[in-house]
Amino acid sequence: MEFTLRNHSQRTHMSRLPMYATTDNSTVFHLVIRNGEYTVCGLRIPRLRSGQALHLVKETVGSQSLCKHCERISKSEDAES
Ligand SMILES: [Zn+2]
Repeated sequence: MEFTLRNHSQRTHMSRLPMYATTDNSTVFHLVIRNGEYTVCGLRIPRLRSGQALHLVKETVGSQSLCKHCERISKSEDAES
């Protein structure tokens, strides 16, 4: 069971609430857990939006890649369920 990044912009099972978190200068993005307050890898997402701080985005830029920690954790959760 592989998490296929190339398909993340298509409709997936997460389409109801597609959210990622990133910072403006970052080349990585994070997956966000349901309440939108934390990333899968455990970073807190501040309410105050700032380019320097993590903030929620609905779409990711093509040059950005998924955070390795988020990827690993989301894979292991898939395997457990
Ligand atoms: Zn992450």
